Amino acid sequence: MPATIAIIGRPNVGKSTLFNRLVGKRLALVDDTPGVTRDRRAGDARLGDLKFTIIDTAGLEEADQRSLEGRMRAQTEEAIADADAVLFVIDARAGVTPSDAHFANLLRRTDTPIILLANKAEGRAGESGLYEAFGLGFGDPIAMSAEHGEGLADLYDALLPIIDGVEAAEDTGAEAKTDVDVEDAEDEAPAGSRERPLRVTIVGRPNAGKSTLINRILGEDRLLTGPEAGITRDSISVDWVWNDRHVKLFDTAGIRRKARVQEKLEKLSVADALRAIKFAEVVIVTLDATIPFEKQDLQIIDLVAREGRALVIAINKWDLVEDRAAAMQVISDASERYLNQIRGVRIVTMSGLHGRGIDKLMEAAFSAYEVWNRRVSTGRLNRWLDGVLIHHPPPAVAGRRVKLRYLTQPKTRPPHFVVFCSRPETLPESYTRYLVNGLRETFDMPGTPIRLSYRKGD
Ligand code: GDP
Ligand code: GDP
Repeated sequence: MPATIAIIGRPNVGKSTLFNRLVGKRLALVDDTPGVTRDRRAGDARLGDLKFTIIDTAGLEEADQRSLEGRMRAQTEEAIADADAVLFVIDARAGVTPSDAHFANLLRRTDTPIILLANKAEGRAGESGLYEAFGLGFGDPIAMSAEHGEGLADLYDALLPIIDGVEAAEDTGAEAKTDVDVEDAEDEAPAGSRERPLRVTIVGRPNAGKSTLINRILGEDRLLTGPEAGITRDSISVDWVWNDRHVKLFDTAGIRRKARVQEKLEKLSVADALRAIKFAEVVIVTLDATIPFEKQDLQIIDLVAREGRALVIAINKWDLVEDRAAAMQVISDASERYLNQIRGVRIVTMSGLHGRGIDKLMEAAFSAYEVWNRRVSTGRLNRWLDGVLIHHPPPAVAGRRVKLRYLTQPKTRPPHFVVFCSRPETLPESYTRYLVNGLRETFDMPGTPIRLSYRKGD
C-alpha cells in the first residue's frame, strides 16, 4: 500500500491545483461514495521518485453553507484519520486568515505529521504570508506555487522521510511473518534505519561529458544500454553507494537520451535541466576544460544558483589540458568574474573518461551539501549585525538612515536570512551584496547560494 497524503485547507487556497499537479493525468479514481466523502478525490500522485496516494478535500466551497464549519470539521477529521501525513495549505498572498486558524486548531490535536504549505508564493507576492505562517506552529512553511510548480523540491524533502517510513514499516511487517533471528536482522540494518541518500544531479551543456562521467561513476553501462530501471520512462533516478554513503543520482535529459547515443540533437533543454535540478540537493555542473565558462555554462550555473541548490563545478576532460597552470588561471579569473553569487564554490578538475578526480568530486558534493544545510543561531547573527552597524552601516538615503533591527535565519537548504528593518525598499543592491558576502565569510558558507530578504518591522 502506498502512503496516503491528504491535502487540507480552506476553500480557494489551491488544493485542487496542487492535487492536479501531483497527479498529472494519472487520476486513478474519483471517490464518489455518497455521504461526507463525496467531496474527496483520490489519485496516484508522483513527485520525483516518490509515489503515494493523494486525497483532495476540495469541493467544500460548494457545500451547504449552513453547516460549512461542521462539514469542514468532519472532512478534515476523516481525511486526517486516513492519512500518513497532511499537507496543510494556506494562501500566502492572503496571509493567515481566521479560517486557516480554525484548521490549524483541528490539526494541532492530531499526531499525524503536518506539512505546512504557503501556496501562491510565486515571485515575492507571498512573502509576508509566508512569515505569518511561521506563527502557526507547524515548523517551517514551504513556499509553494502549485500553479507554477515551485517549491516541489522542498515538498519532496518533507515527504521523503514520511513515505520512506511508511514503506519501511510495511517491509518490516512482511519480515515479521517469517522466522528471522533478531540478531542477524540487526546486523543487516533494518529497512527503517536506512540512510537518507544524497540527491545529486549532473548537468552541463551537450558534450561536456555528463554521460561519460555517470557511466564511470556507476562503473557499468546500464544507463546507456540496459532495460533496467535507470532508463525506463518512469524511473528517473539511480541509487548507488560512494564510500559507504548513499547517493541517488537523478536523471537528466543528458542521461536518458544516451539510450540512443547517436542522436546528438541535444540542444540543452532548459525545462529538462530544470526538472532535474529541482529534485536535486546537490547539482554537479560539468564544464569542458578545453572551453570552460562559455555563455551556456554560465546560464546553467546561474539557473542552479537561482533554484537555490548546492552545487559543485566539475572541470571535465582535464586530461586534454596541456598547460594546466594557464588553465587554472583562466578558471580562477572566470570564477572571480562570474561566480559572485556562489563565491567560494568548489571547482574540481577531473576526467570522466579516465576516472580521475571522481572521489574529489563526490567529497566536494557532500561538503557543499553540508554548507547548504548550515544554520546560524539568531544570537550569533545579531552579534554580527551589531558589528556591521558600527563598521559599515547602511547608507543614508535622503538624509535618513535605514534602521536594521534584527537578523534571523528562518530557513536552510539554501541558507535564507531575513533582516527586519525600516524602509527596506531604499537599501541599495550593493548593501545587500555586502551583507551576503559578510554572512558567507563570517559563518563559513562558501559556494552556496544565499538568500537575503528584508521585512519591514520593528
Ligand atoms: P481549492 O479550493 O483549495 O481547491 O483551490 P483551487 O485549486 O481551486 O484554486 C483556487 C484559485 O487559486 C484558482 O483560481 C487557482 O488558479 C488559484 N491558484 C492555485 N494555486 C495557485 C498558485 O500557486 N498561485 C496563484 N497565483 N494562484 C493559484
Ligand atoms: P554529454 O553530452 O555531456 O553526455 O557528453 P558525453 O559523455 O557524451 O561526452 C562527449 C564527448 O567527450 C565524448 O566523445 C566523450 O568520450 C568525451 N569525453 C567525456 N569525458 C571526457 C574526459 O574526461 N576526457 C576526454 N578526453 N574526453 C571526454
